[in-house]
Amino acid sequence: QNKQLLPNFVNKSFSNNSATKIINVSNSPVSSILHDTLAGMNSDDESDAFYVCDLAQVELQFHRFKKLLPRVIPFFAMKCNPDENVIKTLINLGAGFDCASKNELQTILNLGVSPSSIIYANPCKQASHVRYAAKNEVSLMTFDNADELHKIKAIFPTAKLVLRILADDSRSLCKFGVKFGASLSDVSMLLQVAKSLELDVVGISFHVGSGCYDASAFSDAVLLAKEAFDIGEKLGFNFELLDGNFQNLIDKLILLVGGGFPGYGAEGVSFEQIALKLGPVIDACFPPHVKIIAEPGRYFVSNAFTLAVNICSRRKIKVSDCDATKEFRYYINDGMYGSFNCITFDHYKPIPKILKAKKNFYYQKNEKLLEELYSSSIWGPTCDSMDVIATNYLLPELEIGDWLYFDSMGAYTSAAGSVFNGFMKPRIFYTNTLH
Ligand code: PLP
Repeated sequence: QNKQLLPNFVNKSFSNNSATKIINVSNSPVSSILHDTLAGMNSDDESDAFYVCDLAQVELQFHRFKKLLPRVIPFFAMKCNPDENVIKTLINLGAGFDCASKNELQTILNLGVSPSSIIYANPCKQASHVRYAAKNEVSLMTFDNADELHKIKAIFPTAKLVLRILADDSRSLCKFGVKFGASLSDVSMLLQVAKSLELDVVGISFHVGSGCYDASAFSDAVLLAKEAFDIGEKLGFNFELLDGNFQNLIDKLILLVGGGFPGYGAEGVSFEQIALKLGPVIDACFPPHVKIIAEPGRYFVSNAFTLAVNICSRRKIKVSDCDATKEFRYYINDGMYGSFNCITFDHYKPIPKILKAKKNFYYQKNEKLLEELYSSSIWGPTCDSMDVIATNYLLPELEIGDWLYFDSMGAYTSAAGSVFNGFMKPRIFYTNTLH
């Protein structure tokens, strides 16, 4: 990513003694960094889109998680946003990490994370990536089919395996069930294959889908996982095939309750509502020796990132010749092929807000604009007409050079963004408003 040092006015180093060092972090409020950064730009060439990341939001989410689900250890799903300062913040807080590939494993191991604090949570893995995990002693990994078991047997026979079962994902925005998860009717067969191959199955996992909007989805899936454990027990399968060498995070039978927890302030069901149902079901179904882990992604980062974009071009459209109704198309310098890929891949509906405009706009006390509003659409910078961020949105008349911002842009944004048409990913300025 195109990270740049903070401008001088926010360039304070944050150091945390023995903890992993988080670099170039100020403690200014996000709004000051947004405005100060704009003030520091003195030519059009510098008007690139940029993020402000408030690491305090990551910390607060971690504490909220531990408070509401004290039994569950969060392993951050780094696919969601592999930003180094976010990862370091979570390392310092004691989180584990969910990796999906060799590259992610490498990143997290290079930051000094112990292999025992990592789960390789991709049920269908490239052989060379499994080999890398074996070489680096990342033992805990998921599977959901018999072929994967044979692959693992050949490459990493001492791996500690977690069987991913199919949960009901009908109440989530991004459904994974079409791709991953063994149905309950296959659990017995898979456990027997594992047993015949003398592989260690240490737990069960599920993922209710990303962006879950029903608080019961997680607790329902825990009941399903309990059925899977029971099937194993009936088969005389003792999941606790532990060799005694495992320390810290993987020395127990494991239940992995997935990701899908909403970010702070997200529309729909809240983390609090999910936790209120999930915690008691876990306790009712699983005795204390069962270790419970989760792999939240968006939960930690969604609202930690704010994206500022510049209006580079504008097209005024007269809706009809006989009246003066205007419609505007605005062209900004980040789009669907960059940060806003979340519109396609994560069903996100970004809401543009005005950061800086040449005209003075007047607001009511409730922050409602006291201006004439026009139907507007917002487009990304590439030459593709699919590169659209919002349509039929009501905005006052904006001009070239004005700035917009978008809240809650931390999940599945830059992580999956490309540099298509040569448009680089936005740089990131960091703050931590807690310290
Ligand atoms: N775990 C696994 C295996 C996933 O595939 C994903 C998302 O793709 C996550 C966790 C994180 O999901 P979320 O960001 O919705 O918490």
